[in-house]
Amino acid sequence: MNNLKTMRVLVTPTSYGRHNPGLKEELESSVDEVIYNTTGKPLSSQQVAELLPGIDGYIAGLDYIDRSALAFADKLKVIARYGVGIDRVDLTAATQKDIIVTNTPGANSASVAELALTMMLMLARQIPVATQELREGEWPRLNGLSLEEKIIGIIGLGAIGKHLAKRLASFNCKIIAYDPYPDNGFAEKNSVGFANIDDVITSSDFISLHLPVLDGTRHFVNASFLDKMKTGAFLINTSRGEIVDESALILALKSGKLGGAGIDAFAKEPPDADNPLLSMPNVVCTPHIGAHTDGATNNMGRMALVECLRVLEGKEPKFRVN
Ligand code: NAD
Repeated sequence: MNNLKTMRVLVTPTSYGRHNPGLKEELESSVDEVIYNTTGKPLSSQQVAELLPGIDGYIAGLDYIDRSALAFADKLKVIARYGVGIDRVDLTAATQKDIIVTNTPGANSASVAELALTMMLMLARQIPVATQELREGEWPRLNGLSLEEKIIGIIGLGAIGKHLAKRLASFNCKIIAYDPYPDNGFAEKNSVGFANIDDVITSSDFISLHLPVLDGTRHFVNASFLDKMKTGAFLINTSRGEIVDESALILALKSGKLGGAGIDAFAKEPPDADNPLLSMPNVVCTPHIGAHTDGATNNMGRMALVECLRVLEGKEPKFRVN
């Protein structure tokens, strides 16, 4: 077994241990040294490159861990992603350098699903407009939508999509889903109807995106997708910014084709201050906070810690992705 007491670990998620300081204490007492991200946000490739020399283990937030950053990894054995998405890690470059990459599947699913549902309800009831106008001294008679009997389309019925479907079950709406690897058992048990992608796009009143970024899913939601949606329908994206062609989405919102959108993940993060999505009254937007809850940070922090230390000890991790 390797001696952990000689190891240095880099920890970059800004919320690491926020709701459970014991996690940091446990890590600090297990290894020689822990280096934290003090910038308050995810690191650029260049910032990662500057920190990697001499690092054995890396508990990684939403940093850009590309080939040029990994060129500076002289001792790195593991990148333990704090979260599920591994689209910002160059897996090929990591594998070529014998660096094991792990993630924390399921750790934040409930929290992301709750955010997607929150956005859906906020859009349906025009909560941002109601709040704003009331603050400005108005007393508007706004007309909301009920989720009851609406068609909700879930694209990507994985961990988060399933949590969302379970939560929606009590709203008495019709849930349809598209996933290239359908879990028919779950769908049957939870009254979710699988459909082909076109049927989900054309018949849903609300579409919630829960698919990963892959070569084939970048700009999955493009002008043609948006054009096929029902006029006045809503799009919720708590997956990744790369999934949506943001310019096409802005046009669809401006033209009235879409009734509104909920956005937790942007094409560029943070978005430019003049990004039109930030000032549209029918858009609810949040700064990639899907996993920022007590439950999710505790789960991700614990799982990433365990995975990182397992690899550093010379053991096989549970959630290896390369
Ligand atoms: P998951 O792997 O459990 O589920 C993803 C599902 O998408 C799988 O069932 C998969 O079969 C399906 N899928 C793959 N390709 C598809 C395609 N072309 N069309 C439709 N479905 C497809 O992942 P998850 O934990 O549910 O995460 C889903 C997404 O949410 C990921 O993009 C992840 O990066 C993102 N995420 C965002 C936040 C946040 O803070 N907003 C937090 C966690 C995860």
